[in-house]
Formats: sequence, structure tokens, C-alpha cells
Amino acid sequence: MEKTDYLIAAKWMITCEDNNRVLENHVLAIKNGNILAILPRKEAEKTYQAPLIEYASHAIMPGLINSHTHLAMNLFRGLADDLELMDWLNNHIWPAEGKWVSHEFVYDASLLAMAEMIRGGTTCFNDMYFFFDATAQAAILAGLRAHIGMHIIGVPTAFAKTIDENFEKALAFYDQYQNHPYITPTMAPHSTYTLSREDLIQANDIANKYHLRINIHLQESQGEVQQFFSKHRKRPLQLLDELGMVTPHLIAIHMTQINDDDYAILQKGNPTIVHCPESNMKLVSGICPVEKLTQLGMNVALGTDGAASNNDLDMIGEMRSAAFLGKISTYNPKAVSADTVLKMATLNGAQALGIDQITGSLTVGKAADFIAIHLDQIETTPLYHPVSQIVYAASPHQVTDVWVRGKQLMKNRQLLTLNEKEIMNKTSYWQQKIARK
Ligand SMILES: [Zn+2]
Repeated sequence: MEKTDYLIAAKWMITCEDNNRVLENHVLAIKNGNILAILPRKEAEKTYQAPLIEYASHAIMPGLINSHTHLAMNLFRGLADDLELMDWLNNHIWPAEGKWVSHEFVYDASLLAMAEMIRGGTTCFNDMYFFFDATAQAAILAGLRAHIGMHIIGVPTAFAKTIDENFEKALAFYDQYQNHPYITPTMAPHSTYTLSREDLIQANDIANKYHLRINIHLQESQGEVQQFFSKHRKRPLQLLDELGMVTPHLIAIHMTQINDDDYAILQKGNPTIVHCPESNMKLVSGICPVEKLTQLGMNVALGTDGAASNNDLDMIGEMRSAAFLGKISTYNPKAVSADTVLKMATLNGAQALGIDQITGSLTVGKAADFIAIHLDQIETTPLYHPVSQIVYAASPHQVTDVWVRGKQLMKNRQLLTLNEKEIMNKTSYWQQKIARK
């Protein structure tokens, strides 16, 4: 018998590989944080000697990947609702950020967000916000796989007074985290409406020099594209194309406005598109044409955006919204299936972030990043198809256990790396401060 660290036995195992397999009564053998083998339970018990963890009424599947979020906005959840994007930004969010955002704020808010993500089965996220060093520190404590956007914005903020200071802070962060095992710096120029052509060129140069992903909010709403066009006589995507930024390393967030010229640029450059359906619906920004992009062979991943425009970080709910929006917007019930959205929330996210060799599916050799969802409950019974049950009927409260790199972050709904009570107390402290104004 070969010794290994753990055997994880599950009623159902959803692999989320390209040819997504749903296996019954199988076992994941885990060694040194990685998946050593996937095999039928009887065979596993004959082959390996290790403590057995039993998920008898659960599905296990890869941890969910939130491909676009602003974690620190969790402390602004519910602060300004029922508004249009530019009104929401200019008159509510940016003033609140100007007043409250600090290193301490971002650290506390990030911990709140990370507790929510772990409780909802998210194991990896792609963030962009000010004081990103605080978010990285929180992620180390939480044990989550973190892609931290080095936020660049062309207006003075509490974080950086000038554009040069933005870039200096980004480079210092990169130096500190470049070799970290699970914190990955990315470039995050905010958008084409908050940065100049020169700023974008500089962000692109840094990304190219250090081989970093570039995150940017792009063509999020019709108003944004129209304003940009009247000023520059071109669309935001066209500018990025001119600057040589539309490549597989680009993560284009939102993309609800795509015309024929845009499709040609996207197909040529092959970036990832991140769909944030709930934020897009709530701010009435528009609808990303997921079905068409997928048919064209583009990589489309899924994100919640920040909790101020969603208002949660629930990736199970986000999958359901993506499927429903994909169907109603095309009047086609076959569009954006349960399997498609599950892939968007796992393997496609890993591909977007350049870590699909490491995570995003339950595959031998990849990291043991997985979650257990308890399906033997009133809300998810009877059970004919585990994938559609998770996408169309399950809720984040049914996620019981979360593992990242073979380390357990949640056990039977108890957070193991974060202190729930402390997080609630800190949140209440901030809420009282912000509500008092
Ligand atoms: Zn965003």
C-alpha cells in the first residue's frame, strides 16, 4: 500500500475538465497539496493508505474562480443601490472611497469578502482595488489563491496622488510578491476613461516586461463607449488594439458593447472576456454576448464584480444569473448551459489567469483546490443531474468544506483560517463609522 496524505471520498465528483466527467463513488488521493490520483473508491482503498475523509451526500468539484472583483467594496455593500453606472460611480462610490478607503479599511473589508467567498466555495479570485498590498496580506491569512491587480487610475486618490505614484507602488508590490507561491500580481489599469493613452502604454510596458496579465474594465456600458468615441473618434477596444494590448494576456472585463469591428479585434487578439452578469443587470450596463463569444472560440470567464454593485460574492448565484441572462437575451433556452457556466466559473477562470496547468479542474497533477457541496437537502432533492442541480437549485450555504492546495480552509461550515466573530465585529465598527458620515 502506498502512503499518501488524504483520501477524499465523495458521492459525486464533478471534474470540470474539458470533457467534464461526473463520477460516482470515486476518491481523490491527495499528496503534498496536489491530486495524486482519481479512482473508484474500492480501488483507492486497496492502493493507498491515508486518512479517509468522507463526503457521503456531497458533490466535490474544483473551487470556484471569481475572475473579477473588488473585494474591499464589501464594506460598501448596500450603500448606494438602484442607480445607473456613471451616477453610481461619480456621485456615490467615488466620494465614499475618497472619504474612507485606507490600508486598514481595505484589509478589514478584504477579510470580510474572503470569509464570504470561502463560505460560498470560491478558492481563487482576481481582484483590483486601491491598497492592494492589504488585500494580499488578507489573502495570505485566508489561504486563498489570489491574483492581485496593481490598480492604476489617473485621478488623485487616498492611495496615490499622481500617476507616477500609482506606478511606483505597483512596481514595489511586484518586487515583493513576484515569487510568492499563491499571490500573483497582475496589472490593473482601471479603464480607458480614467487613464490617458500614455498611462495605458506604461501599464502595458510593465506587463510585457514582467509577463503579467492586464485587467481592464472595457466597454462596460453604452454611455462609456459613446463618450469615448465622441472624444477620440474611436472605441476603447480599438485604442487598446492600436497599443498592441489585445493579446491572450488581456482580461477584458464586462464587454457588454461589441460591434462587428470589435469582434474582428477580439478574434485576432484572443483575450479573455470576464462576464459579470449581476453587476451588468443591476447597473443596467448591458449584456455581454456570451453565447456568441463562446461559439467564436473565445475564453469567457465569470466574475461577481464588487459587492457594491451585485451585492454579493456568490459565484453559484452568478452562474445561475449567467445562464438565465444568456438564454433570455438570445431567446434560446439552449444558450449558455449549466455545463458552460460551470466551466466559466472554474477552468475558464484558470485559463484567464494563466494557471490552468495548476487549478480549475480536478485533474491528476493539479493542486488540490476543491469544495464539497452538500446536496442531500430539501432544496436540492430529488437529484437527477448534479451539475444542473448545483447551477439551478443550490445555494452557497450548501458548501460545507473548502480546500486550497491540499489545506482545509472550511470544515463543516466552520472557517479554519479566519475568525468569523472578529470579522463581524470589525464590520460593525466600519458600518457605524460610514453610516454616521
Ligand atoms: Zn469592476
